[in-house]
Amino acid sequence: MYTVSGDILRERFPHRWSSCGSQLLEAMPFYHVYPGSRCLAIGTTGCNFRCRYCSNAYIAKEDPEIQQDRMYRLAPRQLVGLARKLNCRSIIFNVNEPTVSLPTLLEVAQEAKAAAIPMGCLTNGYTTVESTEVLASIFSFFNVSLKGISARFNKTYIGIDSSRPVLRNIRTLAQVRHVEITTPIVQGANDNEIDTIADFIAGVDPEIPWHVFRLLPEDEMKGAKYPDIHAIDAALQSARTRLPYVYFHNFIGSEWVHTLCPGCGHVVIERFSLGCGGDRLKRLLCEDSRCPDCGREIRLLRENACLGDI
Ligand code: SF4
Repeated sequence: MYTVSGDILRERFPHRWSSCGSQLLEAMPFYHVYPGSRCLAIGTTGCNFRCRYCSNAYIAKEDPEIQQDRMYRLAPRQLVGLARKLNCRSIIFNVNEPTVSLPTLLEVAQEAKAAAIPMGCLTNGYTTVESTEVLASIFSFFNVSLKGISARFNKTYIGIDSSRPVLRNIRTLAQVRHVEITTPIVQGANDNEIDTIADFIAGVDPEIPWHVFRLLPEDEMKGAKYPDIHAIDAALQSARTRLPYVYFHNFIGSEWVHTLCPGCGHVVIERFSLGCGGDRLKRLLCEDSRCPDCGREIRLLRENACLGDI
């Protein structure tokens, strides 16, 4: 997605989008950001990872060059205009990895800030310290995919030597931005890391919402078995005692998509899961970010509190 000429690094395909359409935030998933609102979900092509189970491999792993004919061409101002036209509360980069399109996203962020539209993203978090700072200047909220911690898992399934950069960047981002974490569970690959990941999150900030995602493996792992719901639920029992916002979804009818008050256990946000990322808000019972029962504060990004530093 980049090319170097002399000392100059250039983006190869600026202002081109593999997707741009209105979606619910719960479907991203973001559970603690503007509940029930819609965003303009955008994506480009390419990724710095090569996960064996990628569900967007046709966009993330294909040569970007050959995808250009089917890309939308929209200048940043047009993209932000589309978000306004579709009554989107925010713009969220999903599908692939934002670090492969940073110059374009910096331009979008400038336009979005002028229009008072906050931006969020899904990222694998595998970036340099400098790139993480740039990401934090663009995006007000993050869902970082923490796929696994062990070297064995990362080498075998992701193609990287170590998760250390991802862990470092989560710590950094959690200090300055709203962060949620998603862990796609692949049975037999990373389900044995559930407690280790929970310990890590508890050490950074126990109130980080954690989405444990039942992954239906695709791409190179199409033949793998589907993760067992009851086994994962059992493995999450200990994590739930340490982390107040643990979710388990990506299957129809999940019972673990509601937000409970960490103080008294009262349901403060009710959702339902249609599977395949199709989660929906049912009832928001903590409009003022407080539990209606005991008054305890509920972590919720509701205002345009931070619009990035762009
Ligand atoms: S980080 Fe996401 S988009 Fe990139 S290869 Fe992995 S699953 Fe696919």
